[in-house]
Amino acid sequence: MESGIPPTASAQFLWNRLLDLLRTRIPETAFNTWFSHLSLTEHSRDKLVVGVPNTFVLEYVEHHYKSILENAAHEHLGFFLPVFFTVTQTPALELFHPGSVEEPEAGHGQSKPVVTVDATVPLYSPYNFDNFVVGDCNQLAHAACMAVAEAPGRNKFNPLILYGGTGMGKTHLLQGIAHFCRENETVQKIVYRTSEEFTREYIEFVQKNKDSRAFYKSYKDADILLIDDIQFLAGKPGTQDEFFNIFSALHSFNRQIVITSDRPPSQIQGLHSRLLSRFDTGFLADLQPPNLETRLAILHKKSEMDADSCINEDVLAYVASHVTSNVRELEGTLIKLSAYADFTHAPITIAIAKEILGDTVRNHQKGLTLKRIIDTVAAEFKLSPALLTSQTRKKNIAEPRHVAMYLARQLTDNSLYTIGLAFNRDYSTAIHSIKRVEQFMESDTAYRAQIEKLRATLA
Ligand code: ADP
Ligand code: MG
Repeated sequence: MESGIPPTASAQFLWNRLLDLLRTRIPETAFNTWFSHLSLTEHSRDKLVVGVPNTFVLEYVEHHYKSILENAAHEHLGFFLPVFFTVTQTPALELFHPGSVEEPEAGHGQSKPVVTVDATVPLYSPYNFDNFVVGDCNQLAHAACMAVAEAPGRNKFNPLILYGGTGMGKTHLLQGIAHFCRENETVQKIVYRTSEEFTREYIEFVQKNKDSRAFYKSYKDADILLIDDIQFLAGKPGTQDEFFNIFSALHSFNRQIVITSDRPPSQIQGLHSRLLSRFDTGFLADLQPPNLETRLAILHKKSEMDADSCINEDVLAYVASHVTSNVRELEGTLIKLSAYADFTHAPITIAIAKEILGDTVRNHQKGLTLKRIIDTVAAEFKLSPALLTSQTRKKNIAEPRHVAMYLARQLTDNSLYTIGLAFNRDYSTAIHSIKRVEQFMESDTAYRAQIEKLRATLA
């Protein structure tokens, strides 16, 4: 049989030559990690086929090293052959064992390693299991979170997916898992991200075009990966691919994964089907709005946590029966009432509560949208909505834009990412704009009054 490859060149021989070439082109650690367990399973006149231990390695190597391999082969053989990859039947090697590098040696009487927490935002300590009120609405989610925190990766909930509307306690439970794991040392490393942060990290990484292993590095030795608000990965195929790779790698080594979402993942438009089918293998638990009894229990819990709180039982009951939408709103009302009591040094009566609640209820009923905020602010500053959201950085347009972003953050449940998007800006610009407004409001009373007036118009 005529072959483009010299008959003397056995697969092993050819592969060794290719490895020699690759070694000079790929950083040593990357080379050792990705290539030491691969083999050449087929070479013919029209292709080379490389055997890899699992689909995760396949996707990674194909994406990052295919052309380097093809170039090396071209150089060695003197003609071009496409390289393909196939999963061979060899058992999954420890090659990508997420903890293999840092795994402590057994014995030697070492003390227990301290738990590492890798989170891009500080975890909020009151978001723990003790402070979480369990009711019919969240019983299942809570139980699954407890099971996961007690035995990460060794339970029937992997991945665990918590979903439910805004303010239902998803972030609280997710961070509760992190606190529990840390305190009880049920893991060695916790990685916590919102999917917005994950996206931002990934985009920065791609822009800087750093070593391809660098991004994966912070995730690879996670014993538990906690991802908040997965819905923000919708419509971002590149980031989803990277997330899929990390997810698959960790999952294949029984690392625990917990994800939250504001709706069932199957209803998130723009989420890749392969990611969805991974989620299908896990456990879905929903969080529903609490009933009256649970709302009251939550209010009790929150006012117990606040040593200065002096809201009486009747008022708590009034709040519980009038603020029905979600727990965040319930909590917000309690904070407002406490602030009012602090300020006036007078006990809160139901009449006062009614007045304060008025805003909350009205706001909710109107379903304030970003569009309405943009239109209202644009009108106030005599600009067109298109100009307000345009790229121009002229001061007389940028300043009102900051105000609109600030109000959007204050008056709606939209994330910074979504707010940024509505103004054709990114997440960090939104933060910057909002901070500016806050600073001005502190130092300039006329400015503050103007913003309060706008807020009143929108409420
Ligand atoms: P989500 O992430 O679902 O939007 P959060 O976890 O941020 O909601 O919850 C909003 C607020 O409500 C938080 O302050 C949280 O502590 C509180 N909360 C929600 N559910 C409960 C609960 N069952 N018990 C106590 N607090 C809760
Ligand atoms: Mg949340």
